[in-house]
Amino acid sequence: MTEDIRKKIDKPIFHAVGAAADRLGRDCYAVGGYVRDLFLDRHSKDIDFVTVGSGIEVARNLAESLGKHVKVTVFKNFGTAQLHYKGEELEFVGARRESYSHDSRKPIVEDGSLDDDLDRRDFTINAMAICVNGPRFGELVDKFDGTGDLKRRLIRTPLDPDITFSDDPLRMMRAIRFATQLRFSIEYATFEAIKRNAGRIKIISRERIYSELTKIMESERPSIGWSMLLDSGLLELIFPEFAALRGTETVNGRGHKDNFFHTLQVLDTVASKSDNVWLRWSALLHDIGKPATKHWVDGVGWTFHNHNFIGAKMIRNIFRKMKFPLDDKLKYVEKMVELHMRPIALVEDTVTDSAIRRLMVDAGEDIEDLMILCEADITSKNQEKVRRYLDNYVIVRDKIIDLEARDKLRNWQPPVDGNMIMATFGLSQGKAVGEIKTYVRETLLNSDSPNDFDYARRLMLEKGRELGYEPIENKL
Ligand code: ATP
Ligand code: MG
Repeated sequence: MTEDIRKKIDKPIFHAVGAAADRLGRDCYAVGGYVRDLFLDRHSKDIDFVTVGSGIEVARNLAESLGKHVKVTVFKNFGTAQLHYKGEELEFVGARRESYSHDSRKPIVEDGSLDDDLDRRDFTINAMAICVNGPRFGELVDKFDGTGDLKRRLIRTPLDPDITFSDDPLRMMRAIRFATQLRFSIEYATFEAIKRNAGRIKIISRERIYSELTKIMESERPSIGWSMLLDSGLLELIFPEFAALRGTETVNGRGHKDNFFHTLQVLDTVASKSDNVWLRWSALLHDIGKPATKHWVDGVGWTFHNHNFIGAKMIRNIFRKMKFPLDDKLKYVEKMVELHMRPIALVEDTVTDSAIRRLMVDAGEDIEDLMILCEADITSKNQEKVRRYLDNYVIVRDKIIDLEARDKLRNWQPPVDGNMIMATFGLSQGKAVGEIKTYVRETLLNSDSPNDFDYARRLMLEKGRELGYEPIENKL
């Protein structure tokens, strides 16, 4: 075993760290995520080292041996030191012991042994260490059988899970995140403890929760994490708007689909087609307006009228609460949620050029993303229906390509703009200019030649006159 591990870490940098630690007479280990990923053959971007005694001194000694250009960054408050070497980020920390009291979020931290340090770690697969000192190079310390759990593909806490989660409730999110990223199961007793301690999540900052959610969303199948969040009771606490999609209701023997599981299916399909994490969020949020708009209408059945508009209006508040960025990402998701019914509506009617033009102008650069979302949204059990819809989407896509080539509609602006309207009629900015602009734009989009300048100019003059304005040149 040691021989195998020695081979895995047989790189100059590990020997250099070991030599620095030997010079100072300190025990030093690669630890945590790096070791886990080494066994899983996953790429790890940073390497954590733990030393018994000060890690900062080992980092300084190492840097000296590597040459003048290597700079050590010391974080005194945390007792850690960091350095970059040949594209790798190395972090050094002294082994520590942590004790928590229930009323405080912050643990009391003291110097400790390697054992103490491994005891405070979150999961058995993250609590392994490999010694880098010369004589013991490659020796694995695995007191909780992390290697066994890697084989069993199991997330399990090293100590009593109730204590581990109550001490630092973020670990509940981390358990679910690792299960999603690695496609591991969460051990039964560990998951039961998450259910019992879910309420403690309220002491964790939104930013840290958001960071775990992002990692879930970046995974190959994000639905795994969201289902676990639901089952554990965490979802209701961190994202009640989404939890509200769960469930169905039946009136006169007619139910509607469970929008939570529908959404997860859409999300996974989108994730299989695109790495864009904001498109994935759009998939997750596309039906967020459904609970608020749900109605039973006699003779019609269940309706979710305008759920796309109501949903789009909810996005800003959700972003704010989640501490998501309130920039162009917000605008993008709002747009996706609002427009996600448009291609479906196109399929039900005959697909006219002008309807497609409108869609292209409204979706702009993001039309391809919107099509991915809408195709994923077809989740009916009726295969015939699914095929009919997807066939129609092929027609919509063909028309988009066709019109794109003819009209150059991406980021389209009408050939007559506000400045021209003002100059023509001698108007300053105001309601009349806006009215003329809208008329020109809407009429062009309904026509066969949206880029025809002469036609656009005629429309402008027509509307101006209707509103009682004459072109300046006629007045002279
Ligand atoms: P990734 O880098 O993919 O997020 P990681 O396991 O390396 O995964 P880090 O946050 O980099 O996670 O943490 C490094 C190590 O520190 C972990 O492997 C674990 O041993 C320990 N650790 C991190 N956060 C916690 C925590 N909240 N509670 C206990 N141990 C933790
Ligand atoms: Mg890491």
